[in-house]
Amino acid sequence: MGAPKTIVILGGGVGGVVAARELRKRLGRPHRVVLVEREPQHVFAPSLLWLMVGQRESRAIQRPLDRLERKGIEVLHGEIEKIDPEARRATISGKTVDGDYLVVALGAELAPEKVPGLREAGHSFYTLAGAETFRESLASTRKGRIVILTAAPAYKCPAAPYEAALLIDAFRREGGVRDAGAIDVYAAEPGPMGVAGPEMSGAVKQILQAKGIAYHPDHQVTAVDPGAKRLAFVNGAHGDFDLLAYVPPHRAPGVVRESALAGETGWVSVDRHSLETRFRGVYAIGDVVSIPLKLGKPLPKAGVFAHAEAEVVAKNIASAVLGQAAAGRFDGHGECFIEIGDGKAGFGGGDFYAEPEPVVQIHAPSRRWHLGKVLFEKSWLHLTL
Ligand SMILES: Cc1cc2nc3c(=O)[nH]c(=O)nc-3n(C[C@H](O)[C@H](O)[C@H](O)COP(=O)(O)OP(=O)(O)OC[C@H]3O[C@@H](n4cnc5c(N)ncnc54)[C@H](O)[C@@H]3O)c2cc1C
Repeated sequence: MGAPKTIVILGGGVGGVVAARELRKRLGRPHRVVLVEREPQHVFAPSLLWLMVGQRESRAIQRPLDRLERKGIEVLHGEIEKIDPEARRATISGKTVDGDYLVVALGAELAPEKVPGLREAGHSFYTLAGAETFRESLASTRKGRIVILTAAPAYKCPAAPYEAALLIDAFRREGGVRDAGAIDVYAAEPGPMGVAGPEMSGAVKQILQAKGIAYHPDHQVTAVDPGAKRLAFVNGAHGDFDLLAYVPPHRAPGVVRESALAGETGWVSVDRHSLETRFRGVYAIGDVVSIPLKLGKPLPKAGVFAHAEAEVVAKNIASAVLGQAAAGRFDGHGECFIEIGDGKAGFGGGDFYAEPEPVVQIHAPSRRWHLGKVLFEKSWLHLTL
């Protein structure tokens, strides 16, 4: 065996946790697997949607990252302040850490401040704190208009705001107060889940319509007036709300934007199959990367892709360390459950690398797919961490 190697994984979200586990499984000691993360807890993001309508408690959807230490992964808590991909080095809370390989899995940064008034006026259900405050407001707002807003057209998990609207609809129906207030979705994008194709987009629109949820696509918000509870859009339209849940604008994390890893868009460019950056031995996975597709839009940001990419990268780094040929190749396949309320979910997925456009199959909503999502949640929380 050659000299012991150190693999440094930056970010302990979906991609980072999967990469660390896979590497530890494939590489014996004394090779080191080091995971760096600022947060003590790992939150299972898909469950935020259930939390915001009172179907989950906060403590039930998170786990301490330090649990990974039991598997032989070194968990280092701190703020990643600088990344030097050339030297495969990161500065973490003032200290430098060097790796033989770097895996950048820092996700997307949420930037609500880009829209004046947004943060003061509503709840960002893309964070644990925002989903919690929304849940409290929902419980005490038995009537009035609820608006779900996407503040920019590209965001992680393109299904999430639509699922949120449908779960809120079900919550109000169960409480017998659905008629006491409208539910509106204002979207910056031209339609739901556009990259998955017109069939998927149309199916989601039909479900919204059937539930009496008003849909306003192509509405790019410019400002929110928290006092008047009013949204202003680029197209000159206005929208009123009593309770606002929003998806904030996304951008690459600051430490990535300030590094040599950042491409023109701020996100990291990688080889679409190996996920290697232009720096040898430095990989990037998950939401922090931008992978262009033939249809002119990037691969959607979703945990399912972060997960698959992490497995490929871990496999290939382990092979390189062990002197074997690279064995993994990310092929753009992915799928997702779409919660629609009443204990039902739809399911869709396919080949997002297919050309000229992704080939996606969709399955009508049923209890079976909802159960599938619940089982996935359980296995992630109990087996992964
Ligand atoms: C409400 C909601 C529902 C979702 N539902 C689904 C779903 O059903 N299916 C699906 O596939 N995807 C879903 N997603 C998307 C999914 O959660 C993300 O795509 C996935 O987490 C991306 O993984 P990642 O590892 O790239 O980034 P993340 O999981 O976001 O991890 C990035 C990590 O890096 C850390 N970090 C960032 N900067 C620093 C720094 N400077 N120093 C230290 N640490 C840092 C962060 O704290 C974070 O823990 C959902 C997301 C939300 C918000």
